[in-house]
Amino acid sequence: MLKGLTRLICLFLIVTIAGCGSEQQGAAGANPVAEDQKIFRWKLITTWPKNLPALGTAPEKLADQLRVMSNGRLDIKVYGAGELVGAFEVFDAVSQGTAEMGHGAAYYWRGKLPVAAMFSTVPFGMNAQEMNGWLHYGGGMELWRELYAPFSLVPFACGNSGVQMGGWFNKEINSLADLQGLKMRIPGLGGEVLKRAGGTPVSLPGSEVYTALQTGVIDATEWVGPYNDLALALHSAAKYYYYPGWHEPGSTLEAIVNKEAWDSLPADLQAMVRVATRAVNDDTLSEFTARNNAALQTLLTDHDVELRVLPDDVVNQLKTTAKTVVAEMAMEDELSQRIYDSYMAFLEDVRAYHRISEQAYINAR
Ligand code: CA
Repeated sequence: MLKGLTRLICLFLIVTIAGCGSEQQGAAGANPVAEDQKIFRWKLITTWPKNLPALGTAPEKLADQLRVMSNGRLDIKVYGAGELVGAFEVFDAVSQGTAEMGHGAAYYWRGKLPVAAMFSTVPFGMNAQEMNGWLHYGGGMELWRELYAPFSLVPFACGNSGVQMGGWFNKEINSLADLQGLKMRIPGLGGEVLKRAGGTPVSLPGSEVYTALQTGVIDATEWVGPYNDLALALHSAAKYYYYPGWHEPGSTLEAIVNKEAWDSLPADLQAMVRVATRAVNDDTLSEFTARNNAALQTLLTDHDVELRVLPDDVVNQLKTTAKTVVAEMAMEDELSQRIYDSYMAFLEDVRAYHRISEQAYINAR
């Protein structure tokens, strides 16, 4: 009883003192709120449909964790694609400060920055584990920051899909001839490779993929993998489900922060953003790893999807073309060349070791 009364008195004193403080601040008009009490209310815009499993829930988890970790000092509201700006406007909107933060994938900005695709995924390039090694211990992150700096953006890796599926097709792919004239939704460098192979790549945000496929605007689409593709109901718009996802072997998702907003955060909140993005980066890959298998079984048994493998000669030709496409992109400018050189050197090194570790083990078990 006495304890409770003491607490009440203390609370009263705190409220009174705090009240006096704010009055004094108001009168003086100069005393800023102590840095460890200031609340930052941010908008986070995304390229994903609101709450789409894994892709859309990743930024929600990021916001939730940051709110708890910061005791409410970093309060982030998440917007799905189209709620504040369109999916493909996220980069510009965060760059201009319309929103403080964004979540998407770097290959969506290929029209503006061709080499940005290397920070999401490269056809026949690194898988998720290798991308994380390059970004966080192989110099990749420093190059990514350098690339985005002129746009007042600070990038973070914030999710990974793992190896994706080759995609949904309404006709069989039995030879290279079947790629001729194929109109397919496929972003990034993979789209450019398809173009060189005779197809027509189309860029569409996730929210528009189903309708485009279902109405025949496109002949085929890739999206992510069983877990996400099932959520978009792509199985009810196409018959064949092809693997492997040669074009996206481990796509990194990005969180981008407006530079001015980033600089305004005290050091402890910046540290929380660094740690929380790393946590979500890992969490997303874990979720895909855990959920893809069951989703694939649902697609095959409940929805009668036909699972197909792309023929070897098709995959081999796409691989040869991909090498040329990526090397040409590197010639855009000096920074593109440095990013390409860093990526390729890391890939060569990691591949040599993974041949006798990860790959040998998977073959052996
Ligand atoms: Ca994809």
